[in-house]
Amino acid sequence: MPAYSGVRRLLGAVLFLLATLAPARAAPTDEPDTVRIGVLAFLGADATIGEWSPVLRRLQDALPGRTVSLVQLDHAGLRDAAAAGDIDFLITNPGHYVELEAELGASRILTLDPGPTRTPERAIGSAVIVKAGNDRLRTLDDLRGKRVAVVSTEVFGGFQTIWRELAAQDIDPQRDFAELKPVGLPMTRVFEAVARGEADAGIVRSCLLESREEWRRGFTVLGARSESDFPCATSTRLYPDWPLATLRHTPTALAKEVTLALLAMSTARDGMEWAVPADYQAVHEMFRELQIGPYAYLREPTLMVLAERYWRWIAAFALLLAAWILYTVRVEHLVHARTAELRAALAAREALEARIRANQEQADHLARLSVLGELSGTLAHELNQPLATIVNYAQSLVRRSDNGRLTDDAVREASSEIAGQAERAAGILGRIRGFAKKRAAVRERVAPAALASEAVALFRGMLANAPEVSIDDTLPAGAIVEVDPLQIQQVLLNLLKNGYDAARGLPRERQRLAIRIGEGAGESAGHACIAVRDRGSGLDATARERLFEPFFTTKPDGLGLGLSICRTIAEAHRGRLTVDGTGEGPGCEFILSLPLGPSASAPPESRTDHAADR
Ligand code: ADP
Repeated sequence: MPAYSGVRRLLGAVLFLLATLAPARAAPTDEPDTVRIGVLAFLGADATIGEWSPVLRRLQDALPGRTVSLVQLDHAGLRDAAAAGDIDFLITNPGHYVELEAELGASRILTLDPGPTRTPERAIGSAVIVKAGNDRLRTLDDLRGKRVAVVSTEVFGGFQTIWRELAAQDIDPQRDFAELKPVGLPMTRVFEAVARGEADAGIVRSCLLESREEWRRGFTVLGARSESDFPCATSTRLYPDWPLATLRHTPTALAKEVTLALLAMSTARDGMEWAVPADYQAVHEMFRELQIGPYAYLREPTLMVLAERYWRWIAAFALLLAAWILYTVRVEHLVHARTAELRAALAAREALEARIRANQEQADHLARLSVLGELSGTLAHELNQPLATIVNYAQSLVRRSDNGRLTDDAVREASSEIAGQAERAAGILGRIRGFAKKRAAVRERVAPAALASEAVALFRGMLANAPEVSIDDTLPAGAIVEVDPLQIQQVLLNLLKNGYDAARGLPRERQRLAIRIGEGAGESAGHACIAVRDRGSGLDATARERLFEPFFTTKPDGLGLGLSICRTIAEAHRGRLTVDGTGEGPGCEFILSLPLGPSASAPPESRTDHAADR
């Protein structure tokens, strides 16, 4: 109701101005012989003067030589005058008094005595009036959705007291009434509004209805309570009567004089009586419940109030938050679980790969040993020859020494022969050891011809009557392949051994083997092709078909694994191993193709013709 109170405040100021401009009241308050009493006008200006004139008369009598004046003001005007020190005393309704008590230190010295039928403590209530015979309105609850006339929402007996009763029944006048219609002072206007049908009900001070015969006849009181010691119909609890209060600046001696003078008034003589100050606690309780006046601060939103007001939103938000947290925790949990599963799967896969690698290495190793095993039948014989030569030369040296025929030339010749033979034997053993050693797969940049030479040397080193092997390299200078040299040598050794096996027992001429190295064409473009050719028995149709099958062999002591392992090695190097049995002459040709790597910077010899015979 702030707009309304603004208007009231303005009206109060105007009333106060009029009051101070009147000649009888023009004297400033600081003049000691002027006593100014502010009164709340609730019945309109004339009625107010009439109501309080006994007080004026009594004080004028009791305070001779001093001018006593009554200043009629509305709520805001009275407050402003009190705050400005323009009045020495004030008479107002209990609600307004409690507000000014809290705000300006107003202090009651007397309470109006309502006469023999009522006590000062239980003098004021409100009556909700409806037209007599209006059967639709019986209780306060029936006011929902109705138009209700009031003087203003600030008046005590005309609104605030009933507001408390309505609030107790969870009725909010602002919210639940169809209209809360302020009709202004005097309070008689409320009766008029209801009588004219502008409002369904009206709120007035208790006992006002009973003060006029026409009102008693024309209106009834809604929700009337039975209050003992109270002669009028009331819809509310009862509160103390109006007080007369001093202000902070009111001189104590003057207060005392006024108190004594007014206490001496009697209804019989003066038409009104004053009693000692009543207890206004009931008014405080009402204000506290309504959270208005001095207790308006209770309306300021505290955490609890906010929580009560917005609990649905807070609950919804909390639910959402909880759901979100649950969801996040669940996702986290799933991610953790999946990550752990994935890690375990990866670890298992790595372990498996490591096992496969180890097995592969083991298999490679065994395959190499197997080739060596097949060739080693003649190894003892091959080694025997240099050893026998060494023994011969050594014995010859001993004999010559015994005979005294040991010359320097003979010693030199025998020693160099012994050293030569020993080196040959060591060379054979070194190659075999190098080939047979166990190690992890590697990749090295190497010229294909170097691989072929090494394989031929190994091949020939292990055979007593090794056939001749020629190497013809037509690759451009610097051509290299990136391979595991031992594995490629293993392939070449296998091919050489197979060629040797195919020509065993044939004339020496047919036993010759040839290696041709060149760049592939067509499908094999960009590859180095190493072809191993023999002039042996050649391949029949079955052998050609099943050549690379594991365990296919035509040899009584063969395993049939050599070529299948060779093809696996070729494919592991992104190359191929094929056979060509249709070339010139008898026998067949196996071709190993390997992808050429980027050329080496230092070119080896551009073309090499080897009659590898080391
Ligand atoms: P193994 O030598 O133990 O028999 P391989 O897989 O190396 O196993 O050879 C399989 C078969 O292919 C041989 O038994 C042989 O019949 C045939 N073969 C391989 N190379 C030749 C070749 N150069 N000439 C004729 N037959 C060959």
